[in-house]
Amino acid sequence: MAATLMRSLVKKRVPLQMGRLCYSSSSVATNEVIGRVPKATHEEMLAAVDSCSRAYHAWSETSILARQQIFLRYQQLIKDNIKELAKLITLEQGKTLADAEGDVFRGLQVVEHTCSITSLMLGETLPSITKDMDTYTYRLPIGVCAGIAPFNFPAMIPLWMFPMGMVCGNTYLMKPSERVPGCAMMLAKLLQDAGAPDGTLNIIHGQHDAVNFICDHPAIKAISFVGSNQAGEYIYERGSKNGKRVQSNMGAKNHGVVMPDANKENTLNQLVGAAFGAAGQRCMALSTAILIGEARNWLPELVERAKGLRVNAGDQPGADVGPLISPQAKERVNSLIQSGVDEGAKVLLDGRNVKPNMKCYTEEIFGPVLVVLEADSLDDAIKIVNKNPYGNGTAIFTTNGAAARKYTHEVDVGQVGVNVPIPVPLPMFSFTGSRASFRGDTNFYGKQGIQFYTQIKTVTSQWKAEDATLKSPAVTMPT
Ligand code: NAD
Repeated sequence: MAATLMRSLVKKRVPLQMGRLCYSSSSVATNEVIGRVPKATHEEMLAAVDSCSRAYHAWSETSILARQQIFLRYQQLIKDNIKELAKLITLEQGKTLADAEGDVFRGLQVVEHTCSITSLMLGETLPSITKDMDTYTYRLPIGVCAGIAPFNFPAMIPLWMFPMGMVCGNTYLMKPSERVPGCAMMLAKLLQDAGAPDGTLNIIHGQHDAVNFICDHPAIKAISFVGSNQAGEYIYERGSKNGKRVQSNMGAKNHGVVMPDANKENTLNQLVGAAFGAAGQRCMALSTAILIGEARNWLPELVERAKGLRVNAGDQPGADVGPLISPQAKERVNSLIQSGVDEGAKVLLDGRNVKPNMKCYTEEIFGPVLVVLEADSLDDAIKIVNKNPYGNGTAIFTTNGAAARKYTHEVDVGQVGVNVPIPVPLPMFSFTGSRASFRGDTNFYGKQGIQFYTQIKTVTSQWKAEDATLKSPAVTMPT
């Protein structure tokens, strides 16, 4: 089904240039090939950017109400196709069907938010800054923008990117992860069905060459990246050097701090869900628990709950946890677990004693592994979290308001949950990971997303009455 769909998209619907067949998209659960997408050649990538550049003038001049209408239709089409999109995600990426629907749903919320563009893109005015003179600003698009996405949210993350960029009047070049290329193609087709003109969105498939091309092409004015630090730091540096705006959302090591006064039942269920859901392949997964004081004794119950999760192919009824993205990812996770054992951690469903200097703590594992540390006090826990270089997300579990307030104020992490394990902000806010989890100065979606995809033009105008005509040249600066 997905293979047929992708082929038909490539051939007929989406304005994509055909190239040599290169990437095989495989079912993650079985490792069978389910489709192929063309790796874009250099000529095809040039053609894709040219297509975005040609479409830019007309699109940026399209009335904002017309752009809003397209995204209103788009959000409805995504809702109508959510099950199909989810099936494709489960097939390509492996997560369970219910979780795949969540993946689409959280992206859909960003699209719904773009439908408020008539408010979001308002400029500012200040009348009468001096006699007969007014100043006002326009928020305007910046040109061709590009998005580079990771494998773990095949719908949500591309939907953080091109809808935000395009609704502001930019045209968009999207490079999905080569490991999950199909979902972005289906999303592009739905946008075309919603009425987006040809050339406003182009998709290229590739990896390093495509990334370098995006970082270097002078027509591309801004890059939104989400993925690992290795790629994200490189893209931030190369893109910025070439004068582009870059926002780079990267890796994480998110800590859940458990106070002994927390609601035990809720906390243990939330921890297990947030550590092992999507096989731990979420940038906001709670991959590290810090148990404080008496909460140390909750470990056996945490283990029991983790044992109860059913691991299966994502499309199987009752599956809680699907497979990792690839055999290589599994090998990497296993080797990080082994490094923990070699360095003295106890493993599997009976252990504790990971120390902050161990590799399994310092590196992002990105798998179904919960690292458990212990601390004597909240102050100690805050020190541990603040010493870790990443700042994507964290959560505190407590029934004590003062402890919660202290934690939210003193912890140096961009997104904090209080009894909320995965505190991803809704799109009227922005996604505000910090420190090693982010490079750039304007975050994804929300007000900051609009800022990222627009530039300001300031107009100062004077309309004098005829009888107020200047009598001589104004050679001095006005005071
Ligand atoms: P990845 O960095 O391997 O791939 C992301 C994109 O970069 C892909 O499109 C890929 O083609 C490209 N790429 C990969 N390696 C590259 C390189 N060396 N040079 C240039 N381009 C390269 O990431 P992934 O494995 O697909 O995704 C998992 C990572 O993404 C994790 O680290 C996770 O924490 C992070 N992530 C972060 C967020 C966030 O919002 N902070 C969200 C989701 C995922």
